[in-house]
Amino acid sequence: MLPAMQYKKIVMEPDKKIALVAHDHKKRDLIEWAKFNRDLLAHHQVYATGTTGQMLERELGFPIIKLQSGPLGGDQQIGAKIVDGDIDFLIFFWDPLEPQPHDPDVKALLRMAVVWNIPIACDRASADFMISSPLMDKRYLRIVPDYDGYRARAIPGAEPEAPGQTEIPAPRRTAA
Ligand code: PGA
Repeated sequence: MLPAMQYKKIVMEPDKKIALVAHDHKKRDLIEWAKFNRDLLAHHQVYATGTTGQMLERELGFPIIKLQSGPLGGDQQIGAKIVDGDIDFLIFFWDPLEPQPHDPDVKALLRMAVVWNIPIACDRASADFMISSPLMDKRYLRIVPDYDGYRARAIPGAEPEAPGQTEIPAPRRTAA
């Protein structure tokens, strides 16, 4: 039988900290979606990567916390905020038909969202289901694996020396 997994719970308040990101060919989609859901989004704290944020702010008419543009590090900033608990909800319309200069950052952001069990929508249908969830405006306890076991893991070759353990002398070089 598999050992029971230990979990911790992280509180998501009714007002969520939502990040919105869209690649260039998906920006139109995201803006239409956000305009349709403007009133639902308005009372949450909304973050966005630089260009997406500028466009959204213009169209929605409420302040958005704008980070760097994605290719300049914005995706990584969002990932770091997820780790710090400052973002707890991600709408990320990435483009499946175009390679991006910052593809590794895109992958890293999606990975951080899963490590911390953040709701993620990568297309409009998922975003529709998520934003209309009854959980959206409630306090929610997000379950995250207890990573303490991982932090305390044994690293081969890096254990402190046991008392009384004698060091094996290095072989002596003999002059040829
Ligand atoms: P942008 O970045 O909003 O600055 O265009 C989005 C991204 O490519 O991640």
